[in-house]
Amino acid sequence: MTTRRTFLEVMAIGLPLMACKNDVSAQKGGNTQKPIVISTWKDGEGVNKAAWEVLSAQGSALDAVEKGAVYMEDQINCCVGLGGNPDREGKVTLDASIMDHQFNCGAVAFLERIKHPISVARKVMESTPHVFLVGAGAQQFAVEQGFSLEEDVLSEKAKEDYEEWLITSEYKPVINIEENAYNHDTMGLLALDATGNLSGACTTSGMAFKMRGRIGDSPIIGSGLYVENEVGAVVATGVGEEVIRTGGSSFVISMMRQGMSPQEACKKAIERIVNVNAERAKEMQVAFIALDKNGNHGAFAIQKEFHYCIKSDVEEVMLESASWF
Ligand code: ASP
Repeated sequence: MTTRRTFLEVMAIGLPLMACKNDVSAQKGGNTQKPIVISTWKDGEGVNKAAWEVLSAQGSALDAVEKGAVYMEDQINCCVGLGGNPDREGKVTLDASIMDHQFNCGAVAFLERIKHPISVARKVMESTPHVFLVGAGAQQFAVEQGFSLEEDVLSEKAKEDYEEWLITSEYKPVINIEENAYNHDTMGLLALDATGNLSGACTTSGMAFKMRGRIGDSPIIGSGLYVENEVGAVVATGVGEEVIRTGGSSFVISMMRQGMSPQEACKKAIERIVNVNAERAKEMQVAFIALDKNGNHGAFAIQKEFHYCIKSDVEEVMLESASWF
């Protein structure tokens, strides 16, 4: 297993603008690469392009991550945002969080009928004394801020998936394997801008067919997302309960603060999850991606077939993350 892990440390499958680094675990405080944006899953390619429009025009990391997340939420027949899979009552409920370089953060959860939860999260951060709004209160706030209430309908794909799920009505988190680009529920992205500031965003429809009212890791600052400008930024995807239990993203940051590279720190957080319950870990996917203040990046997942995308002046690449199994 170790041999395979070491062997597969990182496999480049995209077209890099320059030769792609094949062992990002070795990166530690090297040359600064900025601006740069990295994001989860194969869909990260389009997300990075949207974020890059901001970064390449000397825009802020915060604007860039919001723009990338909005792009994803607009893909209505996809898996994040209102096009995502519903809960077991057939309702789509959205979670999102955003964090900047000064510990400012905002989040929403259990939000219904709003197309851009990430922008509502940013409004919570910038226009309220709070960090986190949920459910009816989050929706009321969104409407007051001018967001429109969308129709309460499922996307075609979600309707099909839900009807199929209803046949057994059995809840079992699916391990997201990306045969196609759409088999995931969450988009997380991290950016370092030209001035050297980091920000991160995470947006999700949550685990498909979850209990009504269930909230995952994605909107929980320190679990699904964390940014500490002096150190780095981290975002998670996969079974949120495991990320919450282990304090995922802030754990990764604390490992980086102690000197680990982004990839080593992500691996340590995955090891922590596997150590909690190795049998349970075999049946699930969790992955972290991380970016440090110098633009070094890394990722680690429990299962293979987790990809992440990178875009900077010198790299435009999709990598398969190293994994535990
Ligand atoms: N982390 C998300 C949640 O638990 C789901 C995912 O990333 O697939 O809600």
